[in-house]
Amino acid sequence: MKSAELPARILIDIDGVCYLRGTRIDGAAEAVTRLCSEGRSVVYVTNNSWGLPSTYAETLRALGFPAGHDQVVTSSMAAASLLLEGDPASRRPGLARGALVGAMGGPGLVSALDDAGFEPSGVDELDGVPADDVGAVVVGVDRDLSYARVSQAARLVRGGSWFLATNTDATFPTESGLLPGAGSIVGAVSIASGVDPTVAGKPEAGLAKAAASVVGVGPGLVIGDRIETDMAFARRNGHLAGLVLTGVSAVEDLASAEYLPDLVANDMAELVESPVRIELDDHGAPVAVSGGESLRRAIGEALGARCQ
Ligand SMILES: [Mg+2]
Repeated sequence: MKSAELPARILIDIDGVCYLRGTRIDGAAEAVTRLCSEGRSVVYVTNNSWGLPSTYAETLRALGFPAGHDQVVTSSMAAASLLLEGDPASRRPGLARGALVGAMGGPGLVSALDDAGFEPSGVDELDGVPADDVGAVVVGVDRDLSYARVSQAARLVRGGSWFLATNTDATFPTESGLLPGAGSIVGAVSIASGVDPTVAGKPEAGLAKAAASVVGVGPGLVIGDRIETDMAFARRNGHLAGLVLTGVSAVEDLASAEYLPDLVANDMAELVESPVRIELDDHGAPVAVSGGESLRRAIGEALGARCQ
């Protein structure tokens, strides 16, 4: 497969695909530049809820990636969009602009809520405010997590405020190892309140809708490094799933994956040029075709282990 055969919309995960722990991944920036120069629409999609999209875009540009601030969508932005639009699956109508929303997260969450026209407030500043007056509580990565914040968030959710999670990733990788992700904090509020959240980020549809607002509606290619979030996100939202092996998931993980990728490559440069494709044979069993021989053989062994 040459890049000419890839779809016109490309959704690119950031961590583990473009860079790893702040260090750029060789060939990735050139691959994205090529996709853009061939006329494709590119959006970067991240479950990271903490930062501002403009900050992620600046980091990407500093590493050589073509990335405008309006080409990055975060799980915080997806959560804010869900609040506006409502979510039939959660039986929640959209909130009116100006609604008071409790935030448990970073500057990216507060900014996304503000940009969407809501009135964000730290949950610990809502002591004594009735849940009826707080349209929603949105929980992401909260580096100032405290017992008081969990208590207030759980009180509001128990009282009927709409409970949203930016994402449910249990951890995220840093230079100093795995740190607790939004999912760990969401779990505390969920257990304390007895309520399950509406989830905005990958693999759910909220982030797919936010991405479509940048690259348009229709099938595209998701490039990611985590099978359980990125590949699930792709397949559940009508996109091709492209796995790169520069981040979290390894070839062996394909043996137990719920959602298989369509394309697999060692890195983004190879994904654009000559990925291994996973297709179904005449008996409906997944098989690895094309691409580099050693990767194709390793994928074949992992796929074979699924069938036993
Ligand atoms: Mg990633």
